Amino acid sequence: MNISGKKISIVGAVRSGIGAAKLVKQLNGVPFVSDANENEKIKNSIKTLETLAIKYEIGGHSNKVFDCDLMVVSPGVPLDSDVINTAKSKGIKLVSELELASLVCKGKIIAITGTNGKTTTTSLCGHLFNICGVKTYTAGNIGLAFSEIALNVQEDEFAVIEVSSFQLDLIDKFKPKVAVILNITPDHLNRYENNYQNYINSKLRIFENQNDKDFLIINKDNEVLVNSIKEHKSTDLYFSLNKPQQNGASINGEDIVYLKNGAEEFRCKISDINLRGEHNYANAMAVIIAAKIFDFDNQKIIEGLKTFKGVEHRLEFVRELDGVKYINDSKATNVDSVWYALRSFDQPIYLILGGQDKGNDYDQIKELVLNKVKKIYAIGSSSEKVFNYFHHDVKVEIKHSLEDAVTAASSEARENDIVLLSPACASFDMFNDYEHRGRVFKEAVNKL
Ligand code: ADP
Repeated sequence: MNISGKKISIVGAVRSGIGAAKLVKQLNGVPFVSDANENEKIKNSIKTLETLAIKYEIGGHSNKVFDCDLMVVSPGVPLDSDVINTAKSKGIKLVSELELASLVCKGKIIAITGTNGKTTTTSLCGHLFNICGVKTYTAGNIGLAFSEIALNVQEDEFAVIEVSSFQLDLIDKFKPKVAVILNITPDHLNRYENNYQNYINSKLRIFENQNDKDFLIINKDNEVLVNSIKEHKSTDLYFSLNKPQQNGASINGEDIVYLKNGAEEFRCKISDINLRGEHNYANAMAVIIAAKIFDFDNQKIIEGLKTFKGVEHRLEFVRELDGVKYINDSKATNVDSVWYALRSFDQPIYLILGGQDKGNDYDQIKELVLNKVKKIYAIGSSSEKVFNYFHHDVKVEIKHSLEDAVTAASSEARENDIVLLSPACASFDMFNDYEHRGRVFKEAVNKL
């Protein structure tokens, strides 16, 4: 795509929109950024635009936004919004920021999607590839927007990109060398007209442009995913926690093995993975497969697994006090991630649950809660829903703040117990975002 001299409108003036505008400018195009909102985040980010003399409008879209050769849509902008509908009716070509960045990136792209585990897997992959001796950037939903780094990545280097379904909704030629789909479970259904199939289809677009020199890494245990995959040209490689794989990675006793056409190419101990929980073994297997596609040295791969420290707010160990361990899993914003969190501990759990509900169905975790949880502290706008669902089977107490929940849990938990914040909900009812919620939890724990 030749951007030079072209007028490119960018809808959304936050991280990826700003990244896209900078990239368009670097490519000698003429960017124009437009955002319907006008909050502090946006006001902060337009400072960058001003420094770069990039034109913009905020607090509403004028007709100027439609005067363009191409429109780049940020992932936060719903596809049924007026601005998108009008652009479509005018025949304007719409692409995501992911599409734009990928078209100018010369390096090899590893694209990672899934409902849960994207950030963890993307960071692990970046860390491990760098240890294996290849220069690797991580970007996308994580840290920097892909557009910020796309031009830096050289041909023999790697870009590991965390890809959301929203970015995939507007791709055209996006073609990663390696695509990873970690899992698909219900989430974000509000953006997909409550249609699970639309959400799945959107994730599956990650491999639609791949050819026979490309690879698709898939979670073989995720039935919905495996059953939805249609014909494609790339080579499939699988990972599974349950069944041996002839082309892929699986668990073998206390080990993880990777086989290619039935022959063992890699083996490590599960305990080499410096992360808790079987979901993280699955994430690590996806990365091991990606590393073996490029024939990286086995010892280096193991070193990468051993030295990865995990990501903040994902089953993050905060502190041990009087024999009680405090764990921050604030990023668990859906029921599936709480299921994995509960399975990650053998000890009795005091669980802090609740927040802004996303149509949660707690049936999936009911049995685990009955087996493992001594008491639930329900917080946030969904606290009554949590109470009503669980109180017949397990002790539940509604707490009006996260700090109160921490104090109460600390007074009741005994040696060897776990206090776990794994809320299954969005955070926006009480906090700016999940990071804010995680920080408040950690501060409360450290004050004890
Ligand atoms: P994402 O970027 O997809 O939201 P994260 O790596 O930030 O994923 O993890 C989000 C939450 O999901 C955390 O609570 C984490 O412990 C949990 N999680 C991580 N990997 C998986 C997985 N493979 N399956 C289910 N849950 C996971």
